[in-house]
Amino acid sequence: MKTDTLAPRLQVVDLCLELSRRGYFSGTGGNLALRIDSQHFAVTPSATDYHTMTPDNVSVLRLSDLTQIQGDRAPSVESSLHARVLRARSDVGCSIHTHQPIASACALHGRSIPVPGGTMRAALGSNIPVVGYAPSGSGWLAAKFARKLRPHINAYLMFNHGALCCGTSIDDALLHVELLERLARQRLREQIAARAASTPRLRPALSRVLATLDA
Ligand SMILES: [Zn+2]
Repeated sequence: MKTDTLAPRLQVVDLCLELSRRGYFSGTGGNLALRIDSQHFAVTPSATDYHTMTPDNVSVLRLSDLTQIQGDRAPSVESSLHARVLRARSDVGCSIHTHQPIASACALHGRSIPVPGGTMRAALGSNIPVVGYAPSGSGWLAAKFARKLRPHINAYLMFNHGALCCGTSIDDALLHVELLERLARQRLREQIAARAASTPRLRPALSRVLATLDA
């Protein structure tokens, strides 16, 4: 390929460190993709600690068939998931899959989250859908995800697993990760409060959970 890929590979390293710093990536959990041009994208390597990762470890793949062009490690097992997003949404420049704590807790519920109007809806879309469960890294998961993908919906829950957020740029995708976590926290707080109101004997335990959530 003609494009110099060092800059996007460095951006991937920086973004992983930022996601770790904010508590959305931990150890080797989570992965992301960054579009380089119309035919290529950079993706995090498989099973690599983000604190020791170098730009050489970041893979560059061909979007059409996932052929590895660069990178000294195997690409993330979720490369085909990210490729589905990048192929279906030409507006998307960056796709981030996390096991972010609160949104992942909501993903255990398996219920979609309506997004309140205003800034949050303008950024994330009207509703956060849930993609049904399939094993991590499987073509089955990527295919299920592709069926749920919609224009203007920039955050998705993956049942019993985690979340995926996308955006036009790195900053945009990172903002959507933050907003999804904030929305998920609100949603969980409402559900816990409703349960405490309907079940008095659970109130002390539920108020402790609420305190943890607000900490
Ligand atoms: Zn995952």
